[in-house]
Amino acid sequence: MLDGKRILLIISGGIAAYKSLELIRRLRERGASVRCVLTRGAQEMVTPLAAAALSEDKVYTELFSLTDEAEMGHIQLSRDADLLVVAPATADILARMTAGMADDLATTVLLATDKPVLVAPAMNVRMWEHAATRANLAMLKARGVLTVGPNEGPMACNEFGFGRMSEVPEIVAAIDSVLAGRLDADTAPTLPVTDPAVGQIARVFSMPDQSGGGVLAGRRALVTSGPTHEAIDPVRYIANRSSGKQGHAVAAALAALGADVVLVSGPTEEPDPPGVSVTRVQSAREMLAACEAALPVDVAVCAAAVADWRVSDAAAEKLKKQDGRGVSLTLVENPDILGTLASAGERRPQLVIGFAAETEDLLENARAKRRRKGCDWILANDVSPERGVFGGDDNTVTLIRADGEEAWPTAGKAQVAARLAEAIGTVLVPPA
Ligand code: C5P
Repeated sequence: MLDGKRILLIISGGIAAYKSLELIRRLRERGASVRCVLTRGAQEMVTPLAAAALSEDKVYTELFSLTDEAEMGHIQLSRDADLLVVAPATADILARMTAGMADDLATTVLLATDKPVLVAPAMNVRMWEHAATRANLAMLKARGVLTVGPNEGPMACNEFGFGRMSEVPEIVAAIDSVLAGRLDADTAPTLPVTDPAVGQIARVFSMPDQSGGGVLAGRRALVTSGPTHEAIDPVRYIANRSSGKQGHAVAAALAALGADVVLVSGPTEEPDPPGVSVTRVQSAREMLAACEAALPVDVAVCAAAVADWRVSDAAAEKLKKQDGRGVSLTLVENPDILGTLASAGERRPQLVIGFAAETEDLLENARAKRRRKGCDWILANDVSPERGVFGGDDNTVTLIRADGEEAWPTAGKAQVAARLAEAIGTVLVPPA
């Protein structure tokens, strides 16, 4: 949670600025206050009025504004924040930050601040790859500026590559980490370099950047997702309402933090997440076999809604109706994939995580399930029909560990996934 945290959000003039409005909402939902500075370019993309309405605060745009200086000097603006976030950070503002320019309100505030600065770069792939931008980024990182993203993907300019601004949940997760002190010069993955500007050893540290590293870089993850289909005969099956949205989002979020992810998915409509190795299966037994083949992994997240039973003797040919007589199916229990992974001896992943979808006595059932299955964490989610979790875009979960519980606010499934991936990143023991 970001309760009481004060974020100064500097929006520069990239097309991704529209996502910054969503960022304001998500940060405020988490209890933070957000004050916005818009560059001249940003005002071509989003209006100060929209930012003011969402932040419920005055929006600052001018360096030389007598009224603003009287109310809140530009130095005060940066001092009054716990964190400065530049999102989107265009190639231009990164260059001006590197040069130490102070030719508008945004760069003046950035030069005057003594608070941590997190930038979310967003630009065309050629601009991102340009030697000037690479050098600017290296210099900024060496001075302690934190980065989140960019991601790889299609761009507004019809090109494809690195340069897309990180998604809002990823930026929120990065802000969370910085403010929780999990990502600073002492705790972040560090690489000492000489900062030629100051002639001393500085530290380079950055949030996940798919173009090179991330807190889960070098770690292997296994995720199960979707329902399973248990054959009755060659054309009929038993299934459930799982959409696979949550499991797929978890796989994507782990990959976004740099993990090498194997996603074992039952039949879903969800597209394969980018950068994830996907094995599609039908039945629980096929899912178990695919999971065992993926071992060893550092972390396993079982988000699949595996059918508890299968038909003991699926018919080889299509069953025929027989003059109004019913048909009886004998069901036998399916293997428990989560339980099997949690008791896999030497091959047990360091961290085994399950979901508990319950319609009643949510937390009690989930706690009991964690112990019974021998997993480390359980995410309890209420799937009573009025919640609309199955197939819906939001989820309300409580993370249950052996040593404590955290109720997370209702959030998009991608956001829940980003938070889970980040939590995983904080506990996995680094590779030897
Ligand atoms: O027992 P229940 O289905 O409620 O447990 C839910 C958790 O166990 C989920 O994480 C689910 O992916 C996992 N599970 C499994 N194999 C099963 C049944 C459930 O991995 N056969």
